[in-house]
Amino acid sequence: MPTAPGTFKAPWAPKRTKQDRERSNDKERRKRHPWRGWYKLAAWKKIRARRLASDPLCVMCLAEGKTTAATVVDHIEPHRGNRDLFFSYANTQSLCEAHHNRDKQRIEANGETQSPSPRPKPEPNFHF
Ligand SMILES: [Zn+2]
Repeated sequence: MPTAPGTFKAPWAPKRTKQDRERSNDKERRKRHPWRGWYKLAAWKKIRARRLASDPLCVMCLAEGKTTAATVVDHIEPHRGNRDLFFSYANTQSLCEAHHNRDKQRIEANGETQSPSPRPKPEPNFHF
């Protein structure tokens, strides 16, 4: 005897999942910052591997007399989406995570970002 199928949902029916939304967010980000995808390219991976092989230590730590393994390959001159700067081996340096993050903050503090937006200051006389 046949059983009622009930509410059958085709597994191939289009369904908007969280993953889909994240994917479209990625697409948006790629449109605004196409260079983000360059980090996945073989050309960059080659530059990165070569830089870490030749300078396995963080150059900024070395300048401070410390020896720290480099984990990040940084662009010395911010590439700002400039392909030549991005894929220039000479424009890269080995950094540790801490120095890389510090460097980024310095750049933001100097207003060297593409769209400097002043952060809203807290109310001067705001107390709990
Ligand atoms: Zn360092």
